[in-house]
Amino acid sequence: MTLLKIENLTAFYGASQALFDVNFTINEGEVLALMGRNGMGKTTTISTICRMLKHRDGVLEFAGQDLGKLPSHKAAQLGIGLVPEGRRCFPNLTVEENLIATARPGHWTTKTIGAFFPRLTERRSQMANTLSGGEQQMLAIGRALMTNPRLLILDEATEGLAPVVRQEIWAVIHRLKTETGLAILVVDKTLRELRQVADRAVILEKGSTAWMGSMTDLTTDLTDKYLGV
Ligand code: ATP
Repeated sequence: MTLLKIENLTAFYGASQALFDVNFTINEGEVLALMGRNGMGKTTTISTICRMLKHRDGVLEFAGQDLGKLPSHKAAQLGIGLVPEGRRCFPNLTVEENLIATARPGHWTTKTIGAFFPRLTERRSQMANTLSGGEQQMLAIGRALMTNPRLLILDEATEGLAPVVRQEIWAVIHRLKTETGLAILVVDKTLRELRQVADRAVILEKGSTAWMGSMTDLTTDLTDKYLGV
């Protein structure tokens, strides 16, 4: 079943158009990679999905509801959980307080998050700003899960982390896919890991969908064309 439907989406920053013609869908239980070179519109697309930026034209539907009319807190209530670029945990709250701050009823509670991320349990009483980068990223994912989303959006979740920590984050994404069947939209620059976790990919170029298909159809010719430097 289609969970998120985006058709002919346009969006602007003031007078400057950033999205021209974005098209893709995400199905229940699917992992979709949103790809493209720097500045092609990935974060802007995520901002419109989360209603932090209003789109101008096109279709934006989540679970059959028109998102266009909703403010961002309503979008979160519908079941869209965002792990934003740069993590953005509350620095002066403890790990536990950060988790409680976003809680909505469902499978994910401080207890189930603690079981999923044992490191967060160990750090439960620590201020978020005393955590390592990888721990903060796990906390950011934990916070998004605490909203009990139907769709989890990860924007550059492995950026700026050491290789070994990046692997831990990818392992978390794999586990979310296989153990929970959550729909996931993931933006990342590491193609090799995206290939292993994503079912399908959509590539943006200059604010428009340039290619969409299954990961197995994403040839090196295509990645050279759309993602190469
Ligand atoms: P990156 O991989 O570098 O994060 P991206 O694919 O996420 O890139 P966006 O950040 O969505 O790209 O940017 C799309 C376009 O919108 C770019 O031309 C960018 O300069 C522009 N843009 C992004 N944020 C703003 C803003 N706050 N005000 C004006 N223009 C912006």
